[in-house]
Amino acid sequence: MTLKQLWVAYFQYPAIIGYLLCAAVAIGLFFVYPAAPLPTLAAIAVSILVYPAVWYCLHRWVLHSQWMYKVPMLAATWKRIHYDHHQDPNRLEILFGALHTTLPTIAIATAPIAYLIGGPGAALAAFATGLITTCVYEFFHCIQHLAYKPKMKFIVAMKARHMAHHFHDERGNFGITNYFWDRLFGTYYEKIEKSKKSETVFNLGYTPEVAERYPWVAQLSGGVATGHPSSRIQH
Ligand SMILES: [Zn+2]
Ligand SMILES: [Zn+2]
Ligand SMILES: [Zn+2]
Repeated sequence: MTLKQLWVAYFQYPAIIGYLLCAAVAIGLFFVYPAAPLPTLAAIAVSILVYPAVWYCLHRWVLHSQWMYKVPMLAATWKRIHYDHHQDPNRLEILFGALHTTLPTIAIATAPIAYLIGGPGAALAAFATGLITTCVYEFFHCIQHLAYKPKMKFIVAMKARHMAHHFHDERGNFGITNYFWDRLFGTYYEKIEKSKKSETVFNLGYTPEVAERYPWVAQLSGGVATGHPSSRIQH
């Protein structure tokens, strides 16, 4: 896959179009409810800084903690936004989050702090920043999962860390583009040791035994898959 093909695949995806449209609307509304330059810049800076921290927390303690599939109301959401992605990491349709879960999350993570900084205009600027940051994250996530070989060193390293999260041990390397919080909380790793390979790297702990007690994800998935994705998923 060439870089051009990657861009084409990326821009065809409805979620990306959705983020860009929402960002355009938020920027348009900013001119209706403007904020002064300084609070606007502060709001943008805060959302850029806060975003990776929020993503880390959600990925580690919401998507990878063992509670969403235990709640009947949340099981379908968990399956859609993370279980399926770990089951078949390269499937483009589920590579991106679902808008009904990501949009409110981005808004909650960015807008309230910005509102305190500079009112509605700053909140809109921060929300737009969050949406654009999401597009950047998803672009790198595409690079990580699609058959594109990056040349730049830092992107090669980024891809290797995320591949390890998917194929070696899902209990580390939670950042997608930014591993600062992994380093801080001790979940960053580079070494791939066969003996330390996680047994739950594809099912995230949702084993056939667990499914007997909490059957909702299995019911929606037509059973519980075991083994490596390549042995089971047909292309
Ligand atoms: Zn991934
Ligand atoms: Zn695949
Ligand atoms: Zn994950």
